[in-house]
Amino acid sequence: MNIGILGAGQLGRMLALAGYPLANRFTFLDTTGHPSAGIGDVIIDTDRKHLEAFLDKVDLVTYEFEHLPVSLVQAIEEVRPVYPSSEAIRVCQNRAEEKALFDRLGIPTPAYRLVEHADELEAAARELGCPVVAKSVTEGYDGKGQAVLKDPGEAHDAWRAINHPRLVVEAFVDFVREVSIIAVRGRDGEVVFYPMAENQHVDGILRYSIAPLPDLDEGVEQIADGYIRALLDELDYVGVLTLELFQCADGSLLANEMAPRVHNSGHWSIDGAVTSQFENHLRAIQGLPLGDTSARMPTCMVNVIGREGDPAQILAIEDAHLHRYDKSERAGRKLGHVNLLAPTHGELLGKVRACAALLPDAPAPRFSFE
Ligand code: AMP
Repeated sequence: MNIGILGAGQLGRMLALAGYPLANRFTFLDTTGHPSAGIGDVIIDTDRKHLEAFLDKVDLVTYEFEHLPVSLVQAIEEVRPVYPSSEAIRVCQNRAEEKALFDRLGIPTPAYRLVEHADELEAAARELGCPVVAKSVTEGYDGKGQAVLKDPGEAHDAWRAINHPRLVVEAFVDFVREVSIIAVRGRDGEVVFYPMAENQHVDGILRYSIAPLPDLDEGVEQIADGYIRALLDELDYVGVLTLELFQCADGSLLANEMAPRVHNSGHWSIDGAVTSQFENHLRAIQGLPLGDTSARMPTCMVNVIGREGDPAQILAIEDAHLHRYDKSERAGRKLGHVNLLAPTHGELLGKVRACAALLPDAPAPRFSFE
């Protein structure tokens, strides 16, 4: 089976690494001119002339990046199976569509408004009460295309800074923690769920994910599973879907956004779960049985961003697993991650601190249950 992947970054790289034991081959279609997968066959298609060559090579298509023209995915769907479908991409790449779907399925979100003008942004900030977060409806990720308004009077500056014709404006959530739930749906509709992870972001970029959580109420996890199952079933989804949520002081969950792909907050599963998110995505799209999603041990994923630190020192930590993406160092660039495993959360936190101290640009780790 030759699997075509739209996008050629580290997520594609890790999909390929998971697929080689299954005798999968991989062909990537890169439209950016800067592929970094460093593995498999990469077709660079900046002039949009190589789609046919890509399709000739592949049996089915998936992707690792959802900010793609929906028309491109629809065109591919005419000739090859695409999982998840173009409909999932259409919804997930647009925050307004995503919010409408959450509303329709009764999945709670922060209070929000859609605005198309700086004056409307100001009015929305007044109505919702500051602080609010303004986000471009499309093309935003890792905190890009966003601004926090502390006062409605900042609306015109924020509008100019984001520079996008349509924004979603959200009430700022005073959350206790950010969490994510990752689930996988097979071609036959079978669904499996990973344990929920707690995620620490700094400046909109994920730095740490830890799973499973030591203090998670089983009822809360079931609610999150119910939300993501509703999304999977509604979209007739095949593959891995990620739902990011805020957890409030009363335990309740508010959906932030979803990603129709393997996700940074699931990288812990490579070493920490019986079957990784990458292998399970590949199993799902090929119609194979889904693998066990349970955690082997408490696991923390530490992102390596900007500068790498000394791999030898990192690997000297017991049960540390370093995943480097073979990229050059640049401020803010995701270069790799470290998965740390320990039998207890207490021991795990000690390892996370030791690992963070070895990474030049790592912020101090902080978890809600410490
Ligand atoms: P997003 O791109 O929507 O995931 O936002 C990036 C990060 O900004 C989130 O992970 C949060 O840390 C923060 N953030 C986004 N929306 C809100 C909100 N409504 N209230 C509080 N923090 C937010």
